[in-house]
Amino acid sequence: MSARKPASPAPQRQYRLSKSRLLSFLQCPKRLHLALHRPDLAEEDESAARRMAAGHGVGEIARSLQPGGMLIGHDDDLGAALAETADRVKASPRVPLFEATFEHEGVLVRADLMLPQGRGWRMVEVKSSASVKNYHLQDCAIQTWVARHAGIRVHSVAVAHVDTAFVYPGRDNYRGLLKEVDVDGDIEAIAEEVPGWVSEAKAVLAGPEPAIPVGSQCDDPFPCPFYAHCSRDLPPGPEYPVELLPGVAGKRLAAALRASGIDDLRDAPEERFEHDQFRRIWQATASGEAFLDPTAAKELKRLGWPRHYLDFESVQFAVPIWAGTRPYQQVVFQWSCHTESKVGKVMHREFLETGGGDPQRRFAENLVAALDDDGPVFVYNQSFEATRLKELAELFPDLAEKLTGIVGRMVDLLPITRRHYYHPEMKGSWSIKAVLPTVDGELSYDDLDTVAHGQEAQAAYLELMAPDIPSERKAELERGLLEYCRRDTLALLKLTRRLTGKN
Ligand code: SF4
Repeated sequence: MSARKPASPAPQRQYRLSKSRLLSFLQCPKRLHLALHRPDLAEEDESAARRMAAGHGVGEIARSLQPGGMLIGHDDDLGAALAETADRVKASPRVPLFEATFEHEGVLVRADLMLPQGRGWRMVEVKSSASVKNYHLQDCAIQTWVARHAGIRVHSVAVAHVDTAFVYPGRDNYRGLLKEVDVDGDIEAIAEEVPGWVSEAKAVLAGPEPAIPVGSQCDDPFPCPFYAHCSRDLPPGPEYPVELLPGVAGKRLAAALRASGIDDLRDAPEERFEHDQFRRIWQATASGEAFLDPTAAKELKRLGWPRHYLDFESVQFAVPIWAGTRPYQQVVFQWSCHTESKVGKVMHREFLETGGGDPQRRFAENLVAALDDDGPVFVYNQSFEATRLKELAELFPDLAEKLTGIVGRMVDLLPITRRHYYHPEMKGSWSIKAVLPTVDGELSYDDLDTVAHGQEAQAAYLELMAPDIPSERKAELERGLLEYCRRDTLALLKLTRRLTGKN
């Protein structure tokens, strides 16, 4: 009888890590584990897609600003990308390299820009944000650690972020869009931690799914796509959680209430609420009755007629597309205005630029034509609309007097509502979307299926501007945008009526 051979241990799978996987690990080890072993559980994240689109636009500009540069492609064959990079870094003369690819200890990175510097290289990571963030430093530290261990002389490291002071002169001239910030000093200490991160991340990947409960890490620095999976077994929370108390002071009080065993606001004793606003929220929530201070009506009744209810929509780009605009400038493209006469007659006017060009001039002309009369102009959170009008006044001196005249007539309904109105179903929020269903039981934003919030309005507008958009889709988006903005100003009208006791 032959002796049985001892079983040889199963070979441990070698995991290859990318920079983004390591960054996922730093956010939460469980995120990394799920990303590799259960990617099917990730939920689509629109904000991630938007960030990615902005990043691609900025990346392309960064490359266009390095004449003679060479793109290391091979997105589907990283072995080929590694081989081509190895050739290019040795070639003479050296040229800027885009997406140069390096590997060390199973960690693979792609550098946005590698620029010849002395006898070595300057590594530049291009970001679409408007400043350097902490996670950019981790990103650069990983990249530098890998590149240096792969034998590259990295002389300096920088983050190139979008400079919001840049004004686009037009004609595809983006020189000055990016601001390079040297981060060598900042990443030195971080880089020492990288080998530890790499071995911990590999251990996590080789082990079972880590038992990590949901927490503050789930949103920091970005919303985790596995939140629905991780939170699926959580017991339903209280109907009115103490965390609905607004602001930093509200969150502090909520933490204190939780610490004393109170999860639902209705269970808290009155003496815990020293702040007037918190006491009001507690009272309305505990009683189920809305709070309406009659002085709101007095304040509003003093104002004249006709009354205009105004709202704007705007769009922002990391890479400006219209001459004279800046990165991330809020460029207005749409307004809606309900006008109410003293006898209660209501008229609606609106504007939406659909031509694809810079919408600002036509926006301003149409607005001053519509509002060039008397009467208060109600807005919700005045700083947004007032700032946009002041910017337009600077841009169009011939319209400045009329535009600033509108600013002078503005009445901000947000602080008035905050001071005088609260309904339990607002659940700690004075956003117009939270307020509207409480002032008119038949109106909300739930029935708007094309555009139902500001981010969707921006996305719809971008889609609308695409030159090859089918006419049916274009009409659908136009309808969606008009309905959405119209709902906002109708909400202001309904709210004002409620505050004055008219419904
Ligand atoms: S949802 Fe939270 S706990 Fe779950 S993987 Fe993501 S970050 Fe980790």
